[in-house]
This record gives sequence, C-alpha cells and structure tokens, in this order.
Amino acid sequence: MITSKSSRELEYMREAGRIVACAHQAAKRAIKPGISTKEIDAICEEEIRKHGATPSFKGLYGFPAATCISVNSVLVHGIPDDTILKDGDIVSVDIGACYHGYHGDSAWTYAVGTISDDAKELMKVTEQSLFEGLKHAKAGNRLTDISHAIGEYVYAHGYSIPHDYAGHGIGTSVHEDPTVPNFGPSGQGVVLKEGMTLAIEPMVHMGKPQTRVLKDNWTVVTKDGSLTAHYEHTIVITKDGYEILTTINKEELFR
Ligand code: MG
Ligand code: MG
Repeated sequence: MITSKSSRELEYMREAGRIVACAHQAAKRAIKPGISTKEIDAICEEEIRKHGATPSFKGLYGFPAATCISVNSVLVHGIPDDTILKDGDIVSVDIGACYHGYHGDSAWTYAVGTISDDAKELMKVTEQSLFEGLKHAKAGNRLTDISHAIGEYVYAHGYSIPHDYAGHGIGTSVHEDPTVPNFGPSGQGVVLKEGMTLAIEPMVHMGKPQTRVLKDNWTVVTKDGSLTAHYEHTIVITKDGYEILTTINKEELFR
C-alpha cells in the first residue's frame, strides 16, 4: 500500500530526516585515512541517539550495525568492522533514523583523502543522477519518470546500474511500497501524489552491472570488482515538485 502522509506525519519525517543529515555531517567530519568503518558507525549512532532517535537499520532484517558502510567495490550493506580507510578510497555511508515512529534514509559517498579523477567523476555523475531523477518528482507525474531520468543520465556517462537494488517508499517502515527503480522506461508505475514519501537512491557501477553477495549474507559487491557510488535522499512529493527531508535548513550539505 502506498500512503500519503499528513502534515503531522511530515513534521516527524522532517525531524527524522534532519537527524539523518546531522549524522552524515558527523560522518563526513570523521572520514579520513586511518579511521575504521566501525568508528564511523559509532559516531553516527551517537549522533542519532543524541537527537532522541534510533538507528533504523540496527536489527532491520537482522542487520548488526547502525549504518551500512560500503568501501570501493562494495555497493551496499557493508557491515562496519575493523576495516581501516586508506587514502584514495571512496566510502558510501547509508544512514537511517527513526523519530517518533517515522524514518529518514539517506546515503552519500565520500572521498577518503585524495582520490583518482575516475573516482571523482563516478561520484559526480551518481550524485547528479539523483537530482536528474528528482526533476521529475512532482504530483501528477508517473513513478518511473524518475527512474528513467536517472538511468538515461547514468548510461550517457558510460556507467552501469545494478538491476537488483532500488529506491522505495518510506514512512512508518524504512521500506514501503512502491519500489523505485533506477532505470527503465518512463510513464509507468503509480501517479505521484502530494504527501507521498520516497527514498530515491541511484547506485552506480563504474564497470558491469552484475553484483554478488559475500558469505556474510549482507555485503553486496560488484562482480567485476569495479568502483561504485550511492546517493540517496528521502523526499516528499509536493504539488509543484518535491521537498528533500534528509537535509538541514534546506541547504545542500554534502557538496
Ligand atoms: Mg539508505
Ligand atoms: Mg533506502
């Protein structure tokens, strides 16, 4: 079922989103060569709890940590551990927070020290693909108008998109209907309505689109070992477009 949120519900979702954005700021400040992914996870969890929220991902389907931290060829669901970040790595941090029963969900890819021009380009294109998709997030449009715009932009830059991971509705659960693909034809899926809350999250591979899951049953990597990037915002559909919920004071935090 796809729900439209009331203004009261949206107030909770704005606060959940703001807390997610605060945790991203804390992660961004901490990320540098020499820090472990476990330390970054602890910093994010502390930030989330400091604001009276709980980490959405801890225990979700049995996930063991507060955040998913995915380094280089890890696409999503990396488990924070003793892995030490090195100069030249790129690291995707996916953060969810639950405030008064409502969730926010946002992922961002960060550079560790000095990264290659190829990695910079991958990050730039993936981030922009999110905003290309959001240009079509508007009441009256169809869901896959967003998907199509993301896919076209990514493919035009010569990258690929994994087929088995997508964005999603969000609200009192982290993952709600509808599924929001990152590619495919436009003009399909539900008609977007005011008050629908969605997590839009392009995931992009530098190489081929195939993925595999490691033996821990969580960590998803590119099959060819190529680099990946992941950018995600939680938004609400408005009459004229959309509002980003996973942000602070409506400023773009992460550029
Ligand atoms: Mg996420
Ligand atoms: Mg998500």
